[in-house]
This record gives sequence, C-alpha cells and structure tokens, in this order.
Amino acid sequence: MKSLLFAANWKMHLGPGEARAYLKAFRARCPRRDGREVWFFPPAVSLEAAADAVRERADLLVGVQDVYWEPKGAYTGAISAPLAAQAGAKAALVGHSERRHVFGDTDEDTQKKLGAVLAAGVTPVLCVGETLAEREAGHTLAVVHRQLAAALGGLDGAKLGRVTVAYEPVWAIGTGRNATPQDAGVVQRAIRTWLTSHGAAVTRVLYGGSVSLTNIVELLAEPELDGVLVGGASLDAEGWAQLVQTPTG
Ligand code: PEP
Repeated sequence: MKSLLFAANWKMHLGPGEARAYLKAFRARCPRRDGREVWFFPPAVSLEAAADAVRERADLLVGVQDVYWEPKGAYTGAISAPLAAQAGAKAALVGHSERRHVFGDTDEDTQKKLGAVLAAGVTPVLCVGETLAEREAGHTLAVVHRQLAAALGGLDGAKLGRVTVAYEPVWAIGTGRNATPQDAGVVQRAIRTWLTSHGAAVTRVLYGGSVSLTNIVELLAEPELDGVLVGGASLDAEGWAQLVQTPTG
C-alpha cells in the first residue's frame, strides 16, 4: 500500500489558541491510520502550540511556512530554521509560490533557504510550479526543471532524498482551478525523474493547487501522486479530517 502525505498550509490563519482548538477537533475526527501522515504548517506564532497539540500522535507533524537563511542575527521580523526547530518545526515549506510571487523570493533565495533548512535537520518541502503565462507558452517543464536545478542542484543523493517536492502550479493556488490529475502526473513524473537522475534513492512528490473534497478522489487515483499540499481546504478541521480520510481504490 502506498503511503500518502496530506500537508495543510494554513498561511496567515489560526493563531495559537485557534490552532489548539483546531487540532483537538482534528484529532477527535481523524484517528491514526497506517500509511497516512498529516503535516500542518501553521503561522510561526502558532508553531509551539501546534507542536504541543500533536505530540501524542506519531502520524502528525508540524512545520514552518518559510525561514530566512541566516541561523541568527539582526534580521528583524525574520525566523531562522534553527529557531523554528526550537519551536517544534520538523518540516519547512521552501519556495512557496506566495513567497516567490508576493514577497519576491528569487531562485537564489530559495536555494539558500533550502540549504539552511537541511542544515538545521528540518525536512524541506520545496514548492515548484509555473505561472499561467508560462504554461500557455508551453514552458511548464522548463520552468520546473529550472526551479529544481536552482534549489537542489548542488545536493548529493543523501540530501536530495530528504527533500519532498510539491508541484504547485501558480495558476491553481487559491483559484478554485486545479490541474487535472493527468496534467499534474506528467509534471510529477518529470520531477521524480529529475530527482532520481541526480542520485535521490527516495522521492516524494506532492500536488498542490485548489485541492478540495470535490477533486481529492480523482487526484489520489493518479499513480504519480504521493500526497497533497492544501491551503484553503485545510482551514476547517472537520473538512480537513474528511479529506485526509478519503478512501483510495
Ligand atoms: C497552497 O497554499 O499551497 C495551496 C495549494 O493553496 P490552495 O489549496 O488554497 O490552492
């Protein structure tokens, strides 16, 4: 049986008290199940509360949404990977499209962040994906390959094997418009091929972009998919518990 990862990106929602209440409700509605892991990415202020709330459950884990690459110093407002780890983060999103397109993170910034996350012993979830203009110009695979090479190019196979990659087409994030499982599958296969050809023995490739209760069944049927990264549909504990328990054929 294939193991599946369900990752919840809460973005700028759910403070510490709300995170505790959410996770209590989630734990009650979603018992542990073999072959399913659920990772939560709360805002940094809620990391510690969320990490406490999942402590008893080995299938649940908490991660940080973004880090700065320096370990410490005079960087007002920033959070480093070691500080996030201290607060309970075991994983980190790196290169999320909102970091790239709202905050202007470059490929080089993303590479430095990914290195910092690995150095702190935290698991990176590298997000890659093309804009609508890039897709319509037929550049999807070229963009994804460029983002992979920029962020992961210098890593050996052992380090690459610690990286989870999420294919998140920019045009599908928060828009209600998801990639078809077949379209996502083509890009996920290309990502897996890139990872293995660079020495990764273990690969985990997720899909993200408007995943919801209405499309999760067909997405999980795509053999290339190892799980999903979900924003909007992860914000309600009950709905998210239902999504995580979606049966597979
Ligand atoms: C995301 O934030 O990574 C995401 C995929 O958001 P949404 O599910 O809302 O499209």
